[in-house]
Amino acid sequence: MRCPRCGSTQVAIQAVTETTFKTKRKSLLYWLTIGWLIEPLLWIFLTLPKLFFELFKPHRFTAKTTTKKLAICQNCGKSWRV
Ligand SMILES: [Zn+2]
Repeated sequence: MRCPRCGSTQVAIQAVTETTFKTKRKSLLYWLTIGWLIEPLLWIFLTLPKLFFELFKPHRFTAKTTTKKLAICQNCGKSWRV
């Protein structure tokens, strides 16, 4: 591997792990139509079960881990993705 900036072959490869969290959201259309109507009703009639459900819901967040390779030039210090 060669550095694109200085042309040096003294390049170190490093593995970088990136974790991104995504929160599941209901669509805007859902809230504009029935979301606002159904949610309070559910809270009224199913407060406790829903509360438990909300607390112990397994996949509230979806974690996405991606491993990227990063090359770092030992000569000039330039880093770029491989
Ligand atoms: Zn370089």
